[in-house]
Amino acid sequence: MGLKELSEAFGVSGCEDEVRGIIVEAIKDHVDEYRVDSMGNLIALKRGTGESELKVMVAAHTDEVGLMITHFEKDGTLRFRPVGGIDDRILLSKVVLIGQDRLPGVIGVKPVHLLKEEERRQVVKVDQMTIDIGAKSKEEAEKAIKIGDYATFATSFCQLTEDGLRTVKGKAFDDRAGCAVLIEVLKERYPFDLYPVFTVQEEVGLRGARVAAYAVEPDVAFVLEGTICDDMPKKKDVSPTTELGAGPAITIMDRSFIADRGLVKLLVETAEELGIPYQFKQPGIGGTDAGAIHLAKEGIPSATVSVPCRYIHSPVCLLSLEDFENTVWLMKEALGKVVARRFVDS
Ligand SMILES: [Zn+2]
Repeated sequence: MGLKELSEAFGVSGCEDEVRGIIVEAIKDHVDEYRVDSMGNLIALKRGTGESELKVMVAAHTDEVGLMITHFEKDGTLRFRPVGGIDDRILLSKVVLIGQDRLPGVIGVKPVHLLKEEERRQVVKVDQMTIDIGAKSKEEAEKAIKIGDYATFATSFCQLTEDGLRTVKGKAFDDRAGCAVLIEVLKERYPFDLYPVFTVQEEVGLRGARVAAYAVEPDVAFVLEGTICDDMPKKKDVSPTTELGAGPAITIMDRSFIADRGLVKLLVETAEELGIPYQFKQPGIGGTDAGAIHLAKEGIPSATVSVPCRYIHSPVCLLSLEDFENTVWLMKEALGKVVARRFVDS
């Protein structure tokens, strides 16, 4: 399935080449055409059986949140900014890999022994942090790193449980999980022309999807995601958003779009007919490439289906292979039924 390779690949927004390269290798024998547009979106075409005139786009984003190096300090440490949404609190003491050569560095942290009482209660802001690459001076650091270099978290992929949920841990499941689902989904042939699109720069504002949807001009679009799963026990906030192991999460509404009701109905009916577990993502939270796609040209009926992932936008996240496989199953079956406009119009 390639989830390990995709998860460990370096692909912060604007620097998705390595991820795209892995995907090209995985799909090239299963599609009729593919091209890379000026932004870096990978747009493929898998011709249908000819039963349907529809053009169906299925998108997943290749980028992940990460860091960008912005400044060298005299002592050889590096200042940085987040790329995409990252909580300052999860950064301290993390190991990161910088640039294409994956130079390791550590986000420095003041030892607990030296923290004053009020410091213990404060969140250290990202602009107060530096990355330590072990250089003794600015000059030495400048030899290894350039301003604008990206950094990603140094997280290896592994399977935590062999039974039950078959949970795996890794980084960037948002949205390498969606990419891996799409790679599996495009291996089937459908009644319509399928446009698998692996987008760039989703995490900084759904940018790649905007131009890709304009170029493809599909009749219908699906977005595949790794979405928020916040299902651990807690006192006050009882909302899990999605639940690990409860199946693919179908979006009804998030902050970026309201899903096409006909497509949601198609997904739900398909799941119920086949006994595929599914859940609704709690409405109103997050956003996906569908936010840009559904507004392209004259408007494109769109839906989002996600693999629930705990701890996204952090150095490490968890997903269930059960959910992953059920998402692939649901998407293959639901796409097989998209043969006429009525699924869009109902
Ligand atoms: Zn995402």
